Amino acid sequence: MTDITPHWAIAIHGGAGSMTPDIFDAAMIAAHEAGLAAALEAGRAVLAGGGSAVDAVTAAVCALEDDPHFNAGRGAVFTYHGTNELDAAIMAGETRAAGAVAGVTNTRSPVRLARTVMEAGPHVFLSGTGAEEFARDHGVEQVDPAWFAIPERRRQLDEMKMRKDGWFDADMKYGTVGAVACDAAGHVAAATSTGGLTGKRWGRIGDSPLIGAGTYADDRAGAVSCTGSGEQFIRSGAAHEICARMRLTGDSADQAARAVLAEIGTMGGVGGVIVVTPAGETAMAFTTPGMFRARADSTGAQNVAIFGENWVAP
Ligand code: ASP
Repeated sequence: MTDITPHWAIAIHGGAGSMTPDIFDAAMIAAHEAGLAAALEAGRAVLAGGGSAVDAVTAAVCALEDDPHFNAGRGAVFTYHGTNELDAAIMAGETRAAGAVAGVTNTRSPVRLARTVMEAGPHVFLSGTGAEEFARDHGVEQVDPAWFAIPERRRQLDEMKMRKDGWFDADMKYGTVGAVACDAAGHVAAATSTGGLTGKRWGRIGDSPLIGAGTYADDRAGAVSCTGSGEQFIRSGAAHEICARMRLTGDSADQAARAVLAEIGTMGGVGGVIVVTPAGETAMAFTTPGMFRARADSTGAQNVAIFGENWVAP
């Protein structure tokens, strides 16, 4: 009999939002799919080579941070004042060690900095100039802020300001990135990285770098990375809530993900989550028209998708 239980698995997202086939032309679809496939491969290669879940999620998220098509690292959205302020978090399910950074402006890979916070520092969460000082002290690559800024995101900020119809870009077409993985040893990890929301101001921080809100990992349940309207994900403690449901109520990853997204819906929030369990089960759920997403596991299953109606579970 063939053993089809996955020994390792990885799922990634590049944000949930209002992406539909009518607003994404063929070139944009191809570019996003290529970016997702490259990031998936970066993480998949780590796991297939016997590497750790923490290394896999770091590799996948780093690839998405460097890809200007996604709102993290290079290509991050602009704040109200025309800067790029980056947030990221990472967590290891085996030890529940975690690291996070918010409002960094010079660190090329915020997820690498979050990982350095997790591994080298006494703290969990650093912000702003202090986080950047920690980055320099620990040799984490620094870049000129111009590295992050691309014209399309500037245009989106200008458009949002012209509309004057709210504090943030309500469309959320270009989201946060994240990855969850389970390695061959059965350890899980999660990582999330973002530029936040277009037009954010007052030092606003979303759910992505908040351990328990946008990112969480616990070997007793699973690993979760979220994307969506961050304020409601914070208020619901989304990523921890999904893990708690799996651990305490026996919900599957998919049941827990859907239940928490439904709760977020009652608060007026939308978005998506990716989940992996220590057994290698993955779930990807969203309440938006689309979510950039991909997954692979040791059974050979692998797919990349953007729009809701195209999604076929493996
Ligand atoms: N959740 C992110 C934030 O609130 C945004 C996103 O996922 O697109 O900063």
